[in-house]
Amino acid sequence: MKRITVIGSGPSGVHFARAALSRGYAVEMIDVGYAPSPPVSPDATFNEIKTGLDDPAGYLLGTAFEGILLPGEQEEFYGVPPSKAYAQRQVPWLQTRSRNFAPMFSFARGGLAEMWTAGCYPFNDAELTAYPFDYAALAPYYADVAGNIGINGEADDLAGFLPVHDGLQEPLRLDEHSALLLNRYASKREYLQQILGCHVGRARQAVLSRDMGERKACRYSGRCIWGCPTDSIYTPSLTLDECMRSAHFTYHGGYYATHFSCGDDGQVRAVCAQPLDGGEVREFPVDTLVLACGALGTSKLYLESVYRQTGEVKVLRGLMDNRQLLVPFLNPGMIGRQYQADSYQYNQLAIGLTGDTPEDYVHCLVTTLKTAMQHPVIERFPLDLRTGIHVMRNIHAALGVVNVNFHDTRRDDCTLTLDVGEGADSPQLVLDYVPPAGEQERIKQTVRRLKKILRQLGCFVPPGMVHTRPMGASVHYAGTLPMSVEPRPMTVSAECRSHDFPNLYIADGATFPFLPAKNITFTLMANAARVAACID
Ligand SMILES: Cc1cc2nc3c(=O)[nH]c(=O)nc-3n(C[C@H](O)[C@H](O)[C@H](O)COP(=O)(O)OP(=O)(O)OC[C@H]3O[C@@H](n4cnc5c(N)ncnc54)[C@H](O)[C@@H]3O)c2cc1C
Ligand code: SF4
Repeated sequence: MKRITVIGSGPSGVHFARAALSRGYAVEMIDVGYAPSPPVSPDATFNEIKTGLDDPAGYLLGTAFEGILLPGEQEEFYGVPPSKAYAQRQVPWLQTRSRNFAPMFSFARGGLAEMWTAGCYPFNDAELTAYPFDYAALAPYYADVAGNIGINGEADDLAGFLPVHDGLQEPLRLDEHSALLLNRYASKREYLQQILGCHVGRARQAVLSRDMGERKACRYSGRCIWGCPTDSIYTPSLTLDECMRSAHFTYHGGYYATHFSCGDDGQVRAVCAQPLDGGEVREFPVDTLVLACGALGTSKLYLESVYRQTGEVKVLRGLMDNRQLLVPFLNPGMIGRQYQADSYQYNQLAIGLTGDTPEDYVHCLVTTLKTAMQHPVIERFPLDLRTGIHVMRNIHAALGVVNVNFHDTRRDDCTLTLDVGEGADSPQLVLDYVPPAGEQERIKQTVRRLKKILRQLGCFVPPGMVHTRPMGASVHYAGTLPMSVEPRPMTVSAECRSHDFPNLYIADGATFPFLPAKNITFTLMANAARVAACID
């Protein structure tokens, strides 16, 4: 039986592994793999948690209130809750330095998507133009992944931007505020579409609206932000568990892979990994190696391997991420109503904005405020705390935020390299991002347009509240070892096989040659399954 070694248990790694196992390969996985604590009171709803736990504040905000966002610290509206802190735990061997980029790494069992918001948006043909395959080639893998993880959504006005693949479950029940916005859209549809180029529809999420195997359909407990206790929201550790049930799968958790080594023929021979418990470096022999450490982690491992092999410090070009804006809004039609804790908490609606070309599409996700933390909003009111809390009680159900995503392209001045220092044990990863020309103007125009759209939907944007998130914050990293039909150095083939090392494959976003204005992870999973189907 042929053996494949995969590094990383994020969405890319586990969907590669699942597909390779189904083709009869033996799969070994090397992973850091920090694990979560078991869910607290899994049957309780959000309101029952608030009233029923001995220390609800400890659970919801942290025993040292570490889940709280302090005023002005990050200008963010959401923080990572204490129950997901394990997914942010780092390793001592990864040091970074960056300019214009705030990188995020996860070493959790399941990777960054253990704390994701589960948005699943397939790329369309226009967005795949720079790729060596089209939507039709990827569609079977989208359908396969959708059938495996459970995605809900609808063929609605967004279908022109979001291809309707097989395996979609029916959408979740809408919360009252989202339903109101969708009804408003229906009554203004022609104007919004034709004059403002705005299409509104249901979000697509990896959340069950129907039972699937042992996983239960969403029961509207309102606990999404702290981690779904019933696995209705998909996380990659579920697929890792599925792989673990195969006799041909071996999981080496607790190892941080620093580099691979090669023979004189350029073939990868082994992976060197540091055990987290501080023992000796372990060498794992390799037949075929697949890197799935997330685009940044894979790039670091690649650069360090080349450096240790040749003494050369290479520069990887083309680093991409989606610029994101947060645009808060107030819907006067909802003032004085009760916020809905018994609903799905992340975004339930999406807005597609047309651009000059299909690549300029802007992707917006609309979240109405329910059980999410209120203090980052109250802190921004020009009011004292007591008055702020009083006002908040009345407008809580009327608030929402639009998360706006812009596309990105590979550019030579967005780079990743190493600083090997003198005598440093572990080289530092150096990231440099240069925003595209005209970005500020594009942001200004989009905000102006979105304000008009929100007015049509009966809402307005309070002055001074729009926040441009730092590059890196969307965590959709891509582009550093891109697919290329021409066999150029530091690129991969259409099958994501390295043009430099013949038995090396890359299964994560490092290989993506263009980043549409869409959440990337569904395509990471589909592409990883496609790579496993191509491997020989
Ligand atoms: C708050 C938040 C919300 C998000 N919401 C969405 C969303 O709604 N939709 C969406 O599409 N995306 C979303 N994302 C992004 C999504 O999580 C990532 O795109 C996705 O997880 C990347 O998958 P990956 O497998 O390529 O890498 P990662 O998830 O980064 O996984 C990397 C894996 O490799 C392992 N690893 C890394 N380096 C090493 C090493 N050297 N040795 C051993 N193991 C290693 C880690 O332990 C981990 O298991 C969100 C992310 C965050 C943080
Ligand atoms: S997805 Fe959210 S609302 Fe649904 S069951 Fe899970 S935590 Fe509750």
